[in-house]
Amino acid sequence: MRLFVGIEFPDNIMRELLRIQKLIRSQAKHGRFVAGDNLHLTLQFLGEVPPAKIGLIEERLHITSQQHNPFLLTLNSTGSFGKGNPLRVVWVGLNGELSKLAYLQNSIAASLAAVGYPPEDKPYQPHVTLGREVELPEPGLQGFNREIEKLPFTVERFSLIKSTVENGKRIYSPVQSFALSVEAV
Ligand code: ATP
Ligand code: MG
Repeated sequence: MRLFVGIEFPDNIMRELLRIQKLIRSQAKHGRFVAGDNLHLTLQFLGEVPPAKIGLIEERLHITSQQHNPFLLTLNSTGSFGKGNPLRVVWVGLNGELSKLAYLQNSIAASLAAVGYPPEDKPYQPHVTLGREVELPEPGLQGFNREIEKLPFTVERFSLIKSTVENGKRIYSPVQSFALSVEAV
């Protein structure tokens, strides 16, 4: 099955992300926008995993979760990958305890590499994808930034998430969630 590790957001953060996505969508000429329920922060993509390996992956992720404390993030500005029009990926960035996020992401990547899922050869850039191939009138994304309420939220867990396509729709279903230990150093 197709798996990735990610962070799911509390309701108020989902609402704010949806509000911004809706604003962008209302001005876009084209774009493939992420379905509302699917907004998330990817930590590590695994791809196709044989069912027999899932237990081992869960074990590694559990151990990793015990070595990290919860931490605080906030929503930040919008941004994009690609500079043309359409923009290849339009996203919302994050702020807050980014070094703790990077530390967690790094540990997860290392623990998965140890069981045969090496990370991609590019630096981790935390972002919440809102849409892909988004064509916007001038001046592009400028103007949406002052709209975002930079709400804080505590990351208390991460999840192993299954990605499927059902009736042509992308569906994410958490396989297991891993609470960050409040006692870790
Ligand atoms: P679709 O592919 O149908 O547009 P999606 O990208 O949301 O939908 P998946 O391709 O299953 O669904 O991806 C699940 C998550 O993993 C998403 O956050 C996606 O950005 C990320 N992801 C997918 N492929 C890769 C990859 N090759 N490298 C890094 N991250 C990836
Ligand atoms: Mg994809």
